[in-house]
Amino acid sequence: MVAIAMPSPSGCQHCGIDEREHMGRWKPPVGWHKWTAPTQDQIKTRMRARRAVRITP
Ligand SMILES: [Zn+2]
Repeated sequence: MVAIAMPSPSGCQHCGIDEREHMGRWKPPVGWHKWTAPTQDQIKTRMRARRAVRITP
């Protein structure tokens, strides 16, 4: 099984890292940014992606 780095559903809108371990991150194209709440669409998409990974053998 291949380990895929799945962003947490509540992870940053820009990079997917959880708020408590975020601090400051540099990530293109946003550059240096603080944790930003993901949009409802992002949360749904991430949850769906997680479920798809769990089902796939
Ligand atoms: Zn971020």
